[in-house]
Amino acid sequence: MDRCPICNVAVKPENLVRHLNDIHPRHPDTPALLEKLKEEPGRSPRRNAGPPLRIRRWQVLLVATIILGGVGAYYLVQVLTPTSSLPCLSGEGGRLYHWHTVLTIYSGAAQVQLPANIGLTVFCIEPLHTHDTSGTIHVESDLSRYYSIGDFFGVWRKSFGSPTQMLVNSTAVSPSPNVILYDREFIELHYASFA
Ligand SMILES: [Zn+2]
Ligand SMILES: [Zn+2]
Repeated sequence: MDRCPICNVAVKPENLVRHLNDIHPRHPDTPALLEKLKEEPGRSPRRNAGPPLRIRRWQVLLVATIILGGVGAYYLVQVLTPTSSLPCLSGEGGRLYHWHTVLTIYSGAAQVQLPANIGLTVFCIEPLHTHDTSGTIHVESDLSRYYSIGDFFGVWRKSFGSPTQMLVNSTAVSPSPNVILYDREFIELHYASFA
C-alpha cells in the first residue's frame, strides 16, 4: 500500500494515479505528482485484455449454450413425450408378424411423400412405422391384433381428417380410419388439401 501524498489515505500503488485524478484533480501538487508517477513502473492500472475479445468469447458461449440447450431439449421432449398409445416393439421385425402396407396420399393432384422413420425413435420402435419415403408402412407386431390406418395416423401424429376418396387395392371404399392394414395391401387417400 502507498499513501496519497496529498490526503494520506492508503491507496494501492497501481491506483494512485487514478486516485489523484479523481480526488485531487485541482490540487496544486497534482500535476507534478502525476508527472513523477508516470516514470514509475506499475503505476498505471493494468488494462483488461481487450473487452472486444471478452465479449466475443461470451457470445460464443451463449450461442453454444443455446444450441446445446436446444439439442438437449429436443431429446428430452423425445424421451418424455409418449409418441403413441401403441406399446413399443421388443425389437425390429415384431415377434408375431411383419406385414407391409403401401400408403399413397394425394393433396389435390399432388402426391404427398411420406417421411422416413415415422414411428421410429432411438427409444421406441412402434408397431407401425416407415423406414423410407416409399410410402411402405411396416406393420410389425408382438401382439395378436390388427392395426388400422387410423392407428398409423396416430403414430404419425396427423389427423386422418376427411379424405374425399379412399381406395383399397384400387377399390373405392367409404373413407374411414378403421380400415385395417393388411400385408401387400395398397391404400390410396385423396384429400382436397392435406396438411
Ligand atoms: Zn421395421
Ligand atoms: Zn418391414
